[in-house]
Amino acid sequence: MSTGGLFAYPWAVVTGDGQGEISGADGLRNVGVVAHINAGKTTLTERVLYTTGKQSFMGEVDDGTATMDFLAEEQRRGISITAAVTRVGWQGYRVNVIDTPGHVDFTAEVERCLRVMDGVVVVLDAVRGVESQTETVWRQADAWDMPRLVLVNKMDRAGADFEASVDAVREVLGGRAVPVVAPLFADGEFAGLVDVVFGRVQRWRDSTDEFDLRAARAALLEACADFDESILRDFVDERPVEGDRVVAALRQGVMSGEVVPVLAGAALHNRGVAPLLDAVCRYLPSPMDAGGVSSLGGEDPAAVRRPRRDDPFCGLVFKSHVEVDESFSVARLYSGSVSVGDAVARGSSGDQVNVESLWLVHADHREPLDEAGPGDVVAMKTTSDLRTGDTLYAPGHPIELEPLRFPRPVLTATLEPRLAQDREAVEAAARALCADDPTLIVSCDADRGGLVVSGMGELHLEVFGSRLSRRIGDRARLGRPTVAYMETVARAGAGRAECRRAGEGSMASVVGVEVEPLSPGEEARVEISCEAQPGRCDALAEGLEQRLRHGLADPYPAMALVLRLVEVAGDAAGDEGVILDLEALSVACRKAVAAAGAQLLEPSMEFEVVCPGDGLSGVLADLKSRVVEINSVTGGDPCEVRGTVALRAVLGYPTQLRSLTRGLGTVSLTPSGYIPADGRAH
Ligand code: GDP
Ligand code: MG
Repeated sequence: MSTGGLFAYPWAVVTGDGQGEISGADGLRNVGVVAHINAGKTTLTERVLYTTGKQSFMGEVDDGTATMDFLAEEQRRGISITAAVTRVGWQGYRVNVIDTPGHVDFTAEVERCLRVMDGVVVVLDAVRGVESQTETVWRQADAWDMPRLVLVNKMDRAGADFEASVDAVREVLGGRAVPVVAPLFADGEFAGLVDVVFGRVQRWRDSTDEFDLRAARAALLEACADFDESILRDFVDERPVEGDRVVAALRQGVMSGEVVPVLAGAALHNRGVAPLLDAVCRYLPSPMDAGGVSSLGGEDPAAVRRPRRDDPFCGLVFKSHVEVDESFSVARLYSGSVSVGDAVARGSSGDQVNVESLWLVHADHREPLDEAGPGDVVAMKTTSDLRTGDTLYAPGHPIELEPLRFPRPVLTATLEPRLAQDREAVEAAARALCADDPTLIVSCDADRGGLVVSGMGELHLEVFGSRLSRRIGDRARLGRPTVAYMETVARAGAGRAECRRAGEGSMASVVGVEVEPLSPGEEARVEISCEAQPGRCDALAEGLEQRLRHGLADPYPAMALVLRLVEVAGDAAGDEGVILDLEALSVACRKAVAAAGAQLLEPSMEFEVVCPGDGLSGVLADLKSRVVEINSVTGGDPCEVRGTVALRAVLGYPTQLRSLTRGLGTVSLTPSGYIPADGRAH
């Protein structure tokens, strides 16, 4: 069938904010845009602002005018670093869009956004298909059971392949991909879009190329038939199925996570953006559909909150902006409502804070609000600062929401003030920058007494360095990053020690300790499994905790082990007794660790290198010199190499790769846990 049989339909009907609004949480969509770096997330979000009439110009990533990349650092580098929230109106719906960074160093940003969104749009580059970071965000979305849509973007590029991208979603990601908006071509050029659901066409170039709508619709109906018996019957009997019925069935499939609608587009040229917005409103859940939240424990473990105004208020803080002149937090509200002037309780401490201001967020601008309700994403300023991960609730109605989880930083660098008297100012500025990013940690180096910063990757630390110097000039020097080693033990071990104080006030302390490995990736912990006077146990437990933080045999934090206090005896008491106990503890620990065999661990990374075909042999030779495990090599142009490698061996690699491949090679590095270090740490 040729597209000549279809009628052209003006898709983009713009409704401004608030016109004919669908009230309450039903008319709200919270959607995150996620993808591999460079797929076009920010460009898409900019087009969403334009198409919905929120903004009268089209911001461009390439010339630093993107509203969503508002940090100076983002505009200079042309990449997104923090997730930006914005609110738009579309066909009576209110849509909160979060544009997330794609670079793996900023993965914590993606994780916290997924935590508070109800659905996601996964953007693919039509030439590149499913890239490594697409897989990572897809798995993250899986972990949160997140309904999703796929936009196959950049359909205008030479080599764009819609079908191959759809196949990759099926084969690599395991999603049941169903095209709902397909591309049309004219002599190989992207020429239009077909809405398979309603059989409508939008064309900006005359095309004589054939498009088989019948086959596309059959595939769509087949997927819908699983969710609607009447569609199954009509499909089998070849009776027409109206678009609205298809929408209703697809919506069910999307919300149960069984179907992933796929749309074609080219965000840069504003193609396919209106149909995508339609799809977000049609298929992705509202906060009502997403359902209630329940308590994880806390004071009232049975607490459940529904997305209704008459339920007690609760929400979760997922971002905090701490600036020199102002700080505020961004929260997702789940139930009840909150107004300026209200008191809310936070976290497990239950302290109360007063809400001083509420805002709707639009990238770096905020619009004041008096009140916000279930499903809203709002910025708030309170009498004392909130922290990322805080649960907020109506006083007297405690609930504890599942906390945000963040990976452990894998790189550290020293941060040295140029002048000794600047130390406090440097530390304060560094801590302020880290306040908003739980994967960026400033600490004092226990050994050398200096400041160290830990982060997720070289780019992460580099961006930290530039942001710091914007604040305090060149008053501090950031050292070269080194990998963050950890320590564990090879097997179980035990140690026991007895210390005595002779003479007047003589006393004795006997301490027994066991250490045992846990499975890889588990946090290290302390256990007390013996009886003694509580005062003695507390001091000994703190002594063990300190060892977990600062090292057993080497000065690296411990992981995947349990350190257990199994015996406390003797008559040690008072301040002198504590000193004696800690002495005995120290000897007992040393013996236990010697028996268990301390083992140094280092971060390992999964990598994916994409480079021109003629650069492959050079890239492989170089990779092999870095002692990597290569898992797959896909030939062609561009070609792709995947595997795992110690992070230490790929510090500075992105630059090296560019020089090996005339600037064309790219690499993604994703933390994949820890491997035994071969002793090169020293
Ligand atoms: P992000 O990293 O996913 O946020 O990607 P950006 O929005 O920053 O875009 C990365 C690059 O792709 C920029 O140079 C954009 O101009 C370009 N780009 C985005 N969308 C399209 C598109 O539809 N077609 C083409 N040809 N380029 C695009
Ligand atoms: Mg971006």
